[in-house]
Amino acid sequence: MRNVVIVGSGCAGNTAALYTARANLQPLVISGHEPGGQLSLTTLVENFPGFPEGINGPDLVANIRQQAERFGAEYVHGSVIEADLSKRPFRLNVEGDWIEARALIIASGASARWLGLPSEQKLIGHGVSSCATCDGFFYRDKKIMVIGGGDSAMEEAIFLTRFGREVAVVHRRDEFRASKIMLERARRNLKIRWVTPAVVEEVLDVTKGYVTGARLRNVKTGETWEQEVDGFFVAIGHIPNTAVFKGQIELDGDGYIISKGGAKTSVTGVFHAGDVQDRVYRQAITAAGAGCMAALEAERFLEAEGH
Ligand code: NAP
Repeated sequence: MRNVVIVGSGCAGNTAALYTARANLQPLVISGHEPGGQLSLTTLVENFPGFPEGINGPDLVANIRQQAERFGAEYVHGSVIEADLSKRPFRLNVEGDWIEARALIIASGASARWLGLPSEQKLIGHGVSSCATCDGFFYRDKKIMVIGGGDSAMEEAIFLTRFGREVAVVHRRDEFRASKIMLERARRNLKIRWVTPAVVEEVLDVTKGYVTGARLRNVKTGETWEQEVDGFFVAIGHIPNTAVFKGQIELDGDGYIISKGGAKTSVTGVFHAGDVQDRVYRQAITAAGAGCMAALEAERFLEAEGH
């Protein structure tokens, strides 16, 4: 039986681990299928306060984990494959082993939705990114491509025009899912070029080990062509990692946890932290802050329960 189990080992989970460990609660962290979370997929993080020269994403999460371990947090590899939150203690099946918890912090994050092309996957962190705020700065005066037709794609494309020489928005349809206001704002931006209806067939160039371009196909005419590009940003949405909790805590239509104030979920004793609930800010620093909030609430909850 554990006092606190934390699902997820990104910025939110590791920060929750640090705080609950320092409160002497000996938390157990289940590191999940993407240990380190989305930061483990980025390179230099320049906007996490306290690192004037920036810090590599994987180093940042590893440091927070080390800091949590110093105070007694334990980590187990693996993912939660089944959960029973209907009564306390909560029960979690971690790849065959059942774990019991008095309090649970869900910090399982949201994974960026990728196109799924092998070339895209190989070049993540080498020109392929899912986060303009994180990586836009590296493409000053370069050619940038943004994939997607929703608000995220518009927001990222507009943001990236601050850096890039030109930003090509590639979308699979001629109509856009983005809200009218965001689409109009993007359309007024003269640095943005529109490439529709088009899909990406391959990100180039895996043999070089970094992005040099993309092979595109017009879905109406079938025409294919190669376009030079330095930064390839995929903005086709995120998928919150909550499938295992479906039907047990309140989720919105897209699967994000619905907050009941602070870090509370619809189940007493279960708290949320980070991108699994946040579809707006999605930053390392806000996730870390949310991890802290969840830890403090879990601590108070356990204290009130007499543990
Ligand atoms: P979204 O609205 O679901 O849009 C995803 C876009 O990616 C769609 O245009 C979709 O194309 C495209 N797409 C999905 N899978 C694809 C694939 N495999 N290949 C190529 N294209 C693909 O996601 P989002 O833009 O991240 O927005 C999520 C939510 O957050 C929305 O409610 C949005 O309004 C909100 N948001 C708001 C703001 C803001 O107001 N500032 C900013 C960001 C996000 P189709 O259209 O053809 O399906």
